[in-house]
Amino acid sequence: MSSYPNLLAPLDLGFTTLKNRVLMGSMHTNLEETGDWNRVAEFYATRARGGVALMVTGGMAPNREGGVFPGAAGLFTEQDIANHRMITDRVHDAGGKIAMQILHAGRYAYSPDCVGPSAVKSPISPFAPKELDEEGIEKQIADIVTAAVRAREAGYDGVEVMGSEGYFINQFIVSHTNKREDRWGGSYENRIRLPIEIVRRVREAVGPDFILIYRLSMIDLIPNGSTHDEVVQLAQEVEKAGATIINTGIGWHEARIPTIATSVPRAAFAWVTKKLMGKVGIPVITSNRINTPEVAEDVLETGCADMVSMARPFLADPDFVNKAAAGQGHLIAPCIACNQACLDHTFQGKVSTCLVNPRACYETEIPSDKVATAKTVAVVGAGPAGLSAAITAAERGHDVTVFDAADQLGGQLNMAKQVPGKEEFYGLVDWFAAAADAAGVTLALGKHVWVEDLKGFDEVIVATGVTPRDPEIPGQDGANVLSYIDVLAQKAEVGDRVAVIGAGGIGFDVSEYLVTGESPTESLPDWMREWGVSDPAEDRSGLAETGPQPDAAERSVTLLQRKAEKPGKRLGKTTGWIHRAALMMKGVDMRAGVNYESITAEGLHVSYGDAREKPELIECDTVVLCAGQVSNRALADALEAEGITAHVIGGADVAAELDAKRAINQGVRLAAEL
Ligand code: FAD
Ligand code: NAP
Ligand code: SF4
Repeated sequence: MSSYPNLLAPLDLGFTTLKNRVLMGSMHTNLEETGDWNRVAEFYATRARGGVALMVTGGMAPNREGGVFPGAAGLFTEQDIANHRMITDRVHDAGGKIAMQILHAGRYAYSPDCVGPSAVKSPISPFAPKELDEEGIEKQIADIVTAAVRAREAGYDGVEVMGSEGYFINQFIVSHTNKREDRWGGSYENRIRLPIEIVRRVREAVGPDFILIYRLSMIDLIPNGSTHDEVVQLAQEVEKAGATIINTGIGWHEARIPTIATSVPRAAFAWVTKKLMGKVGIPVITSNRINTPEVAEDVLETGCADMVSMARPFLADPDFVNKAAAGQGHLIAPCIACNQACLDHTFQGKVSTCLVNPRACYETEIPSDKVATAKTVAVVGAGPAGLSAAITAAERGHDVTVFDAADQLGGQLNMAKQVPGKEEFYGLVDWFAAAADAAGVTLALGKHVWVEDLKGFDEVIVATGVTPRDPEIPGQDGANVLSYIDVLAQKAEVGDRVAVIGAGGIGFDVSEYLVTGESPTESLPDWMREWGVSDPAEDRSGLAETGPQPDAAERSVTLLQRKAEKPGKRLGKTTGWIHRAALMMKGVDMRAGVNYESITAEGLHVSYGDAREKPELIECDTVVLCAGQVSNRALADALEAEGITAHVIGGADVAAELDAKRAINQGVRLAAEL
């Protein structure tokens, strides 16, 4: 019997059957906006071949005013329908099923023409919506119905009506954004008229044998959101109106509680969906931070839902389901929930991809074909750059050996995984080991290599990473000064009062490590208490009346940078606020615009601004240097001096703005060309 009997069980919807319990949730990848429909079709077909039962496309606008941004994709013309036919044909040929999401952004539309129930501006948008009149509301409903009809014409198996995450429909449901006094506002019955009418009229228009998913906000996490009873009432009405499946939405985009970031515990919100089980007769899907077949199976086995939705895990590995079914769960490339290459790209207007899998959305661009002639390839450095190159090259048929001076693979990822809230990096390092083994890579760990060791290989790849930058601060040789490597890798003793020099990604991570005791990511009740999440049956909207209740900080930390800008400004677009909020909850003192004058036994002496004013001693027991990094090019330079051509990738190539995303991307792309 399979290890995942619940996950792999079919689901009979009456007029059609889903082959397993896995839905690929909607992701806005910006692929449609490229206009390259072969590329879009290949993205979905690749995932259909990977075994997922049903996919939902990125949100398609029902009309111009409802687009997330001006020019957002939708089914407006005959040509649009023909383009989408390419997707549905290719998915069906691959044995898959696909539904189109209809997304009306309402006041979240990045446009001065945005509309909503009332003229209440969102904190995450510069534009206040125009309040719709009766005619305007009818037009929005009609446009959504038309979009569903066109989706059917384009060959989709169904549609998902986006009713959560604070978009248009959700804005009607809660009094926070709906201030109307007509039949669309006021009482709860009036406020849920819009979703019910939409589902009813879509069902009428598309007929009975078409999947209609309604994405329901189960826990709004904003002031004056819905109570649990109200959520159940809406779910029951949506079922009566003709929905086939209810999918889960967690939190509005403007909520100040993380819902999908890596520090959110796995399956953190499955309990919310479980509360709906048995209250409706149609299948219920749960979602958020489900990223392994074990977690998904557990969620189903414990009755939290009938199906699971995973979105980003299908960027990381399109073959998730097939690998699970084949007993190769350890070979599933894990989504570490970093958002670095998916959501961060989406919000920067770039095409999404995946830190772990740069082929995501680039399926037509990065080949994975076998080579005609195998070469011997030496890779120096088993960090993410070297390992990605090695695995890709070996999968293509090359004979690859990876050397690393350390006795474990993973490079700097082994420090990242020590940080509370970044436990997913353990899984990433484990996957690198499993994938390297499966690809037949020879690992030579504990071996510092030099030029002589590399003679005789057809290709040499130098992925020797980085070394810490020397900030040249007088007194930095003192016994009270440590580097981030001392702290995270060597576990050096750190005092109670700490000054952290450098507020980049590593400075923030080290501060988090120093102030946190037990990681709340490892304990759902602790995490909920820390962020102030509660049961919406007890506290409206799931916001605890007590507010966030973080544990006291383990140490007193001052985090400093020379730039005068807000510390953390350059962290991830969609996750930086979480890192800043987490440190603020622990009372970390963040200082910008400092000059480091010296370090003495008393602490760190700083001044401020170009004029070096306001000299101050920051009293502390330990100073930790997180002042950035420089390339470790010693081997690359020595090879060059000997006339040996080598490919230099990752941090060894360029240290500035290096991260695992760039390191892996460079490694995979190089090996795809070898
Ligand atoms: P490295 O990971 O540095 O690997 C280089 C390897 O080469 C090392 O294992 C080293 O032992 C080996 N080596 C060097 N010289 C030799 C030699 N002569 N012979 C044999 N072996 C040699 N990035 C993100 O994208 N997201 C994050 O959230 C994130 N968090 C981080 C948190 C921390 C605390 C740290 C320290 C880093 C974090 N990073 C993060 C950065 C990321 O880990 C690095 O960008 C990435 O590891 C660089 O990859 P690389 O392969 O170029 O080098
Ligand atoms: P970084 O982000 O470039 O930050 C370096 C910090 O050191 C900055 O705050 C910088 O600020 C300071 N600095 C630079 N030169 C200095 C000098 N001479 N003296 C004193 N301070 C100096 O680098 P990092 O923190 O080392 O991180 C390395 C890479 O890992 C980054 O590119 C980052 O993207 C990645 N990473 C990512 C994450 C993530 O969550 N995505 C987490 C950790 C690491 P001032 O110049 O203003 O002082
Ligand atoms: Fe997951 Fe990060 Fe890849 Fe996005 S970029 S899919 S969050 S691993």
